[in-house]
Formats: sequence, C-alpha cells, structure tokens
Amino acid sequence: MNTKVAVRKCDKYDTEEIINLITDIYTTCDGPEVNNKKVLLKPNILIDAEPSRCVSTHPSVVEAMIRFLQSRGAIVYVGDSPSIHMRGFRSTNSGIYQVCEKTGAIWVDFLINPSDVPLGNGKIRIASIITEVDLIISLPKFKNHELMIFTGAVKNTLGLVPGLTKAKQHAIYQDRDKFASFLLDLNDSVISHFFLMDGIIGMEGPGPGQGIPVKTGVLIGSSNPVALDIKATTIAGYDPISIPTNYLALKRGKWLKDPADIIYDGPEIESLIKKDFKKIPDTGSGNKAFRFVYNRLKRIRRLQRRPVFIHENCIGCRECIKICPQNAIVMHCEKKNHVVLTDRKCIRCFCCSEVCQSNAVEIRRKLFGV
Ligand code: SF4
Ligand code: SF4
Repeated sequence: MNTKVAVRKCDKYDTEEIINLITDIYTTCDGPEVNNKKVLLKPNILIDAEPSRCVSTHPSVVEAMIRFLQSRGAIVYVGDSPSIHMRGFRSTNSGIYQVCEKTGAIWVDFLINPSDVPLGNGKIRIASIITEVDLIISLPKFKNHELMIFTGAVKNTLGLVPGLTKAKQHAIYQDRDKFASFLLDLNDSVISHFFLMDGIIGMEGPGPGQGIPVKTGVLIGSSNPVALDIKATTIAGYDPISIPTNYLALKRGKWLKDPADIIYDGPEIESLIKKDFKKIPDTGSGNKAFRFVYNRLKRIRRLQRRPVFIHENCIGCRECIKICPQNAIVMHCEKKNHVVLTDRKCIRCFCCSEVCQSNAVEIRRKLFGV
C-alpha cells in the first residue's frame, strides 16, 4: 500500500499556483497515469453554497485539478451528490459547474440511473458514473464534522452515494463508530485512486455546514485516504487517533497499520499545526477510558449533544425535515418557522444541522427544557 502523503503550503486560491503545487504533489505521491483515461473528480459539495462559506471544495482547486489532468491527456468528469439532491442538480452557487463549462470537463448528475455495488455482506446504491470511468480522484475539504469530528478523504467518498440514500445510512449505522466502519467499508468497495484535500481555507467550529472559515494554508495529497486524514487531523490540532475513521482504519490495518509507516513529504508538521483551531467536543475514540465513559454517557440521553432549533433564525425551508432519516422533526402546526423535535426518535446524526443554511440548528447539550 502506498503510504506517501505530500503537504504543500498554499495561502490563496490562485489557480495557476495551485496547478504547480498539484503537479508537485501528484508526482511526489506517485499519482496514477491518466493519459487517455476517463477520470471522475469528486469534490465535496455538501450543499451548493458560495465559496466564501467554505462548505465545498473551492472552485479554483477543482479547476486546477481539471486543467492538470487535461494537460496530461485525461477526459475529466465532475460531480457530487449534495445532502438534498434534486434531479438535474448543477452546482452553480459553488462555482464548480461554471468551472466545468469553462474547461470542457463533463458535469455528471449522480441521481441518473445509479447502480448497486457490493458493501460488506450487502450492497449499496452508487452513482453509475463510477462504472464508466477508469479512475476516481477525490477532492475533500478540510472541515470539522459534528458527528465524525473531521470530514476528510475517507468521508468524502460518501458523496458517491446519491440523494437521500446517504442520510438513510445513519438510520442503519446509528452509532458513531458503526458509521465510521461503514465509511471504511465504502472506501474498500469504491476505491478512489488519488485524493487532494483543499485545506487552503478550512472550516473550524460546527462543521461541516455551519462552521467558520479559517486560514489553514495547505494542500494535502495522497493515494491513501487514511494516511491523508491522519496528517490533516494532526494539522487541525486533533490527536489523529481520536478520530473514529482513523482509529478504526488503523485497527483494521488495510490502508495503514501504523501512523509511523506514513512516508511524509512537506514542511515540518509541527510548524503547520493550528493550535487554536476550534474543535468538535467528544473526541477520543482511540482512548480506552474515553470510550468507556462515552459509551455509558451515550445511554443517558439528557447528557448527549443534540440538535437545538433556534426559531428566530429559521426561515421555514424544511430542508432539515426532508433529510431527517428518523422523521424526528416536523414544522409546528400553528407557529410560523418553528421546527419541533421528537427527541425520542432522534439518533443524533446531525444531518439537520448539515443542511440548515440559516444557522437555525445548534448542536449542544440541553439539560433542561425541551
Ligand atoms: S433530528 Fe437531526 S439529529 Fe435527530 S435524527 Fe433527525 S436529522 Fe438526525
Ligand atoms: S431549521 Fe434550518 S433547515 Fe430547518 S426549516 Fe429552519 S431554516 Fe430550514
């Protein structure tokens, strides 16, 4: 298994500069040959938000990767399935669809004729484009994630699952570690051949949809999603072993057995660490004592972090209601823009917070009141 990870400093979205850095990273990490190959680029488009919100992979990074691949003879396809995905979706707010028009890359709607692929002992619905291309290149974004702590290369693969099928997986794998395990299975079933993380401006605080953009100043590349995520979460100031997907991947040993096996190329990692990066609480998957306490506290629902709806901010768009895999939320029958949670149905997947674009869903402990 290739365990090379390359990190390059980059502090602005300058497409020409990014192309040069991608060339360097791709060569350093032995990226696959792309001449005459059909290549799918899979950015992170959680919701179709403007680049300034840092929710999606920046269009300059997508454009730079398209032009890099085209210059090497590839035919490039681009697509992702946002949380709420309507047929005919084109990512115009993020600027990624316009980049496709400008460069001649082919935009793909993942909802068209999805196919099933094996997953563990069962199967899962996946965008059928993956059966038509030779290579997949994933472009994750450097962001916090309320449920998974950090959304990196391993998590970005979930966007290949079209539409609400993604959210439904939360109802199947309700526990954080079970969901992490599912994500690793998915990466085993649908292998991306290279990963380039947009960490030029990342997202701290309540990611992946409502966090705060923050300069993180890096591009990170690897053919190994686990090795990449370990370096990215280190730069974010986490103990990388506290991240569920990292911890479980090391336990499985398929992608990486030991962080010490990573062949790192880049500036001294200590010099890149964001010590004041606003982190997600409740980390510590790799720590036995933490897991013991966490698993017991999980049984006391009052002590869990949960969605709290801020009615003054709500615009009544109903996106949270559409995505909730448990039908745990409804709109109040009399009060305008007032979302009501049935707490006993809620599995704390935080999908409602991901899709709310009005800062009307906070994830926190609420010990008293409803
Ligand atoms: S209310 Fe929010 S956190 Fe609870 S199950 Fe629904 S989407 Fe998940
Ligand atoms: S809470 Fe957010 S997502 Fe839900 S209806 Fe209100 S504004 Fe829309």
